[in-house]
Amino acid sequence: MESLQVIKGVGKQRAQLLGRLGIYSVEDLLQYFPRDYEDRSQWRTIEEAEIGSYQTVRGIVKKIEEKRPRPRLSLLVVTIHDGTASIQLTWFNQPFKKKAFHEGMEVAAYGKVEFNYGTRQMNDAEVEPILASDPVAWGIYPIYGLVQGITQPLLRQTMKGALARGLRFKDNLPSSLKEKYRLLDMKTAYRAIHFPDTMEEMKKSRHRFIMEELFYLQLLFQYIRKERREWGTGIKCAPNGFLLKKVLERLPFTLTKDQKKVFIEIQHDMEGEYPMNRLVQGDVGSGKTAVAALALAKMVENGYQGALMAPTEILATQHYESLTEMFQGLPIEVGLLTGKTTEKERKIVLERLKNKEIQVLIGTHALIQEPVDFAALGLVVTDEQHRFGVRQRQLLQEKGKHPHVLVMTATPIPRTMALSIYGHLDVSAIREMPPGRKPVKTYVVDEPMRKRIYTFLQKEMDAGRQVYIVCPLVEESEKLDLQAAVALYEELVHRFSGYTCGLVHGKMKSREKEEVMTAFHEGKIQALVATSVIEVGVNVGNATVIMIDGAERFGLAQLHQLRGRVGRSTHQSYCILMSHSKKSETMTRLKLMETIHSGFILSEKDLLLRGSGQLFGYRQHGLPDLKIADPVRDIAYLEVARTEAIQYMKSASSAQVEEMIDLYWPGKREELLKK
Ligand code: ADP
Ligand code: MG
Repeated sequence: MESLQVIKGVGKQRAQLLGRLGIYSVEDLLQYFPRDYEDRSQWRTIEEAEIGSYQTVRGIVKKIEEKRPRPRLSLLVVTIHDGTASIQLTWFNQPFKKKAFHEGMEVAAYGKVEFNYGTRQMNDAEVEPILASDPVAWGIYPIYGLVQGITQPLLRQTMKGALARGLRFKDNLPSSLKEKYRLLDMKTAYRAIHFPDTMEEMKKSRHRFIMEELFYLQLLFQYIRKERREWGTGIKCAPNGFLLKKVLERLPFTLTKDQKKVFIEIQHDMEGEYPMNRLVQGDVGSGKTAVAALALAKMVENGYQGALMAPTEILATQHYESLTEMFQGLPIEVGLLTGKTTEKERKIVLERLKNKEIQVLIGTHALIQEPVDFAALGLVVTDEQHRFGVRQRQLLQEKGKHPHVLVMTATPIPRTMALSIYGHLDVSAIREMPPGRKPVKTYVVDEPMRKRIYTFLQKEMDAGRQVYIVCPLVEESEKLDLQAAVALYEELVHRFSGYTCGLVHGKMKSREKEEVMTAFHEGKIQALVATSVIEVGVNVGNATVIMIDGAERFGLAQLHQLRGRVGRSTHQSYCILMSHSKKSETMTRLKLMETIHSGFILSEKDLLLRGSGQLFGYRQHGLPDLKIADPVRDIAYLEVARTEAIQYMKSASSAQVEEMIDLYWPGKREELLKK
């Protein structure tokens, strides 16, 4: 790494300023790519220049005036003329600028054209002299992201200085890749991404860097995957035997095609050489639990134990109940451990676990908080994976020796995201719902409908059903969120006086939350008012309506998650999206919910509409910051990069791959391996 101060004109102060942009070395600087470009080669005559927009004009300097309208205010006015009209270039309090001009010189000026008091003006223009030796004063200009104290010209000048020193990095991109995809050579690419001669050239340079970045990303994933596998052999399971056959026979339903497919993938992993590391995604209600239960039974059949960790007490208890029923009469003992387990029970459970009298332990965080010892833990399943941190999952895994790992999520991720976030995980998807489900009838409504909606909620409650009312999110402020929730709750207590209402919000202690949720679960609360924290995955089959107030503030994937709270039984369910926005894009977006019922499709739409900034979890997974590639926009490249990285891994030695990755992303490889 070279210090910034080797660049001509960069001293300590400027180096410090650049540090605010995360630029600490010449390399960082050169990789600080423009966020946009201005094509200043397209200039207009002064007469044609459009008032109110940013443009380039050029002309001969006719007059240079310095004015002092007020004691502390100096004004420099340079008038230029191009044969069609004249324009005044003005600067406040920058008298030194005067030195740059003399009458008769030709200049190009870029800035916002204004028209004041009958005169064309450009305030604070960027100006460059047009020299006879270089008649094209301007071409395409890079626009960089800035912070206070750094201006475009300053950054451009520094960048030019850095490029002038010549590049010192090695181009490690395999030449086969460069040839195959006709990528620009590195030197040209760096020059052209900052100061392209043509827009065409700019695109070519971007193409190279995007390809490069995604190639290294995929190489990193492939490398980690390979390393993980080499760490230790997994527990190699035998093909399905008698016990599993029994479990399958006794399921109260036939598995859907997708459930079967996913279980075959799991089986294949568990019977293989390496520990399984698989993510199963499937909409709420798609039947992930059954698949997890089969995996657990398979583990038990092979003489090991399994653990299933869920984010809440209620969920853990629900899993415990359904698995106990599923395994009844079979030699699979199921245990439960949560924060509510009594001291006496806990002792018994832990003892039996150690003696292998319990084969499957289900629980909450208690599984990792307590001194829980398994006799032989072979499979770790985490439900609603995003609710746990990486570390928490790891703690559970460490209770076994290279156990198989299965994580389940009801937040489906589009393929782009899976490729860019979970490149080092195997991903399975259950897209199909069990037969007989009625899609949740979804309606987008506005404020004037509120009364009618409340009447509808009452009608459902009269029929014995329960309802959810989700409060509007208030701008990034938990305090206001809470006020809005309380206000809505009070309004409803008043309006629904013959019914029982409950309130659950993010500021409540988890114990209090659990209490309210349990009361709702048991039917003691009919209308539950909630901020968006409604516990993911809670199964209250009797709840048939969810009304989301201020739906416009939620993303589609999030709305879909919320909608998943209802439609869990044979009763027809409803989702009412109340929007406070009149914007037509918002309505169009929300209306998608009326016709689309697949979380996979909705999350793809969401990603397209809201951009890859929404790639949640990317940072959380410790992945490198991408400088130029955008996994959503560049999906086509992403797939190519993956194929190429897999190919490359086959031909190169580990040491070669390690060196390549380390040069590109120092330290990342080790950081990720630890995760
Ligand atoms: P999730 O994917 O949200 O965890 P669950 O596993 O809780 O879904 O399943 C939701 C409901 O669907 C449960 O009541 C379960 O018994 C039922 N179910 C699961 N698979 C099937 C199937 N193949 N056919 C019919 N019902 C099923
Ligand atoms: Mg579930």
